[in-house]
Amino acid sequence: MDCIFCKIIKKEIPAKLLYEDETAVVFPDIHPARAVHLLIVPKQHVEDFVKVLDQELFSKLFYIAQQMVAREGLRDRGFRLVVNGGGAQIVSHLHVHLMGPMSKTASL
Ligand code: 5GP
Ligand code: ZN
Repeated sequence: MDCIFCKIIKKEIPAKLLYEDETAVVFPDIHPARAVHLLIVPKQHVEDFVKVLDQELFSKLFYIAQQMVAREGLRDRGFRLVVNGGGAQIVSHLHVHLMGPMSKTASL
């Protein structure tokens, strides 16, 4: 399968893995929109948010996101979690963007 995130997970394409467990990996976005811009990516290839069948996956990804917020020192500096889907995504392998620091009025 020609999926860039699957290749990163299989370590066929390099990425700086900041976190890895049996469910997911976390690595920096190659085109960061903020000083911290991480991608939280399930190891299982799920194409899109709407195709997730396992509710537990949502909880695991959000729990990892919570840990990364703390680890990156973003708890009091503003952050945003984003999931693009329904055709708005570039990479068709589910991922959660964690971006920060972020102000209340930031548009992106
Ligand atoms: P999407 O629009 O699908 O939610 O965003 C996909 C994100 O993946 C983009 O922000 C893009 O910069 C990032 N990205 C695409 N290819 C690579 C890659 O090979 N390595 C890394 N680290 N990020 C990538
Ligand atoms: Zn994939």
